[in-house]
Formats: sequence, C-alpha cells, structure tokens
Amino acid sequence: MSKKNRSGFTIDNIYGKIEEMLYRNQLVPGQKIVYGDIAKILNTSLTPIIQTLKRLESSGTVKYIPNKGYFVADVSCAEIQELYEVREALELYILPNILKNSTPSIIESLRINFREHSISDPMALGIHDAQFHLSIIKLAKNDTFYKLLRDVFQQIYLRYKPQYVGHQRPKEALKEHRAIIDAIAKHDLEEARKVIKIHIQYQMEHAAQFYKVSEFPHRI
Ligand SMILES: [Zn+2]
Repeated sequence: MSKKNRSGFTIDNIYGKIEEMLYRNQLVPGQKIVYGDIAKILNTSLTPIIQTLKRLESSGTVKYIPNKGYFVADVSCAEIQELYEVREALELYILPNILKNSTPSIIESLRINFREHSISDPMALGIHDAQFHLSIIKLAKNDTFYKLLRDVFQQIYLRYKPQYVGHQRPKEALKEHRAIIDAIAKHDLEEARKVIKIHIQYQMEHAAQFYKVSEFPHRI
C-alpha cells in the first residue's frame, strides 16, 4: 500500500496531480519547478514532490540541472517525430489484441468517455487525447506496452501548448477518434489499422508544424 502524506495523498496521487499540471500547461517547457510552490498548491511536504520529480526525470519529462534544480524538459521537432513513430509502431502492433478483447460493453464505455471528452475544455485536449488512446491500449492487457505508450504520450503532450492547437484540429481529431471506435466495434483490423495510422500521421504533422514555429519564433 502506498504511503499517505499529510494531505491524504499517496505518491501516486501527487504524481497524477503534477502530471495534470504539466498537461494543462500550468508548468511549461523550460520552466523551473519550484518545489515550495507545488507543495503549497498540493498541501504536501517537499519529500513526495521530489520523489515524484525523480520519477518524471526517468521518463525524460523533467530534467535535473545540478545546483539549479528541476526544469520541465524541452523537446525538439526531430524528437517529436521520433516519438510519433514509436507511438505508431506500438499502437499498430498491439491492435489485434485490442480487437480480441473488445466486448460490446467495453465499446459502450469507450463511447461514453468519448462523448464526455467531446464537450470538454480545449485547454485539456492533450490529456483527453492521451486518456482516449490509453483507454484503448489498456484493452491489449499488456502492462509493459501500456507503460511504454504512457511514457510516449507524456513526452508528446506534456510539452504541447494548447494555444497552438488551433480551432480546426480538435474537431478533426474527434472525428478520427469516432472512426477508431467504430472500426474496433466492427472488429475490422484493416480498417482500425488504417484509421489509427491516419490519425497518428495527422497528429504528428500538426505537432511538427507547431514545433517548427516554436523553435524559431524570431523567424516568423
Ligand atoms: Zn487521438
């Protein structure tokens, strides 16, 4: 059982809270992470915050600079493309297991989650997208794959600034998500492969466009 701190949170809860702050861009790439401020927000001591940051450091989400502290890691356009390539390879590889394990009740719960996400705050698009895909990936019942993909999603979305998302892309992404659920519901492997591949490709192109802009802001 995880140890609880004075606010009643376990380390896993604190990890989740900090992760959410990153997803919501309350902590942004390059920003120094001030332990005291986060401890105050989460009403906890410094120790669990530091333990959480060490965990995030091992996945490359934050970096530690000696004598300076922890910073939210930055990512280049080339790195983001690599992350999407890994994502595509892993998601397509486990697809047959996902289809094998999807029952009508699972499909129904995917649709319910999907409807909830479609009306939600565009600022939280990254976390919702990651949750959508991870809820599907979970169906493969392979913890190692799940953890690997969770890290990939973290690296992709924790550095994604919502102000660059634009109005059109979230709507298109939702349509693509619906197509993914439909293909899984039909147990149509070829169709599911096709729609997931297209979705990841579009997401990557969109992200790459954003990173090119953000890497060279002086050239705009
Ligand atoms: Zn998506």
